[in-house]
Amino acid sequence: MKHRKTTLITTETSEVWVIREVARGTRAWCKPCGAQVEMVPAELAGRAIGANARKVFRLIEAGRVHSTDKPDGSSWVCLNTLAQIEESGNEENV
Ligand SMILES: [Zn+2]
Repeated sequence: MKHRKTTLITTETSEVWVIREVARGTRAWCKPCGAQVEMVPAELAGRAIGANARKVFRLIEAGRVHSTDKPDGSSWVCLNTLAQIEESGNEENV
């Protein structure tokens, strides 16, 4: 049981690392932050926290994470707020 949990954490950490790599250079203005922040696509943000895009949109609607819409219609998530979601752990009841 313990071993299984350790494996899961390692996987999630790896995912976050990948996302930070992808996000490199992808900076956009986040109105709530009032600053240029790293942004990732909603689908990728979902993978970072072990959820799907739908849950990410629920977090956005709840004001838990910031987002901005690109001209092509895609939603991008503020990595600053996404990191806070990760740190807070279990978010099943959002
Ligand atoms: Zn933000």
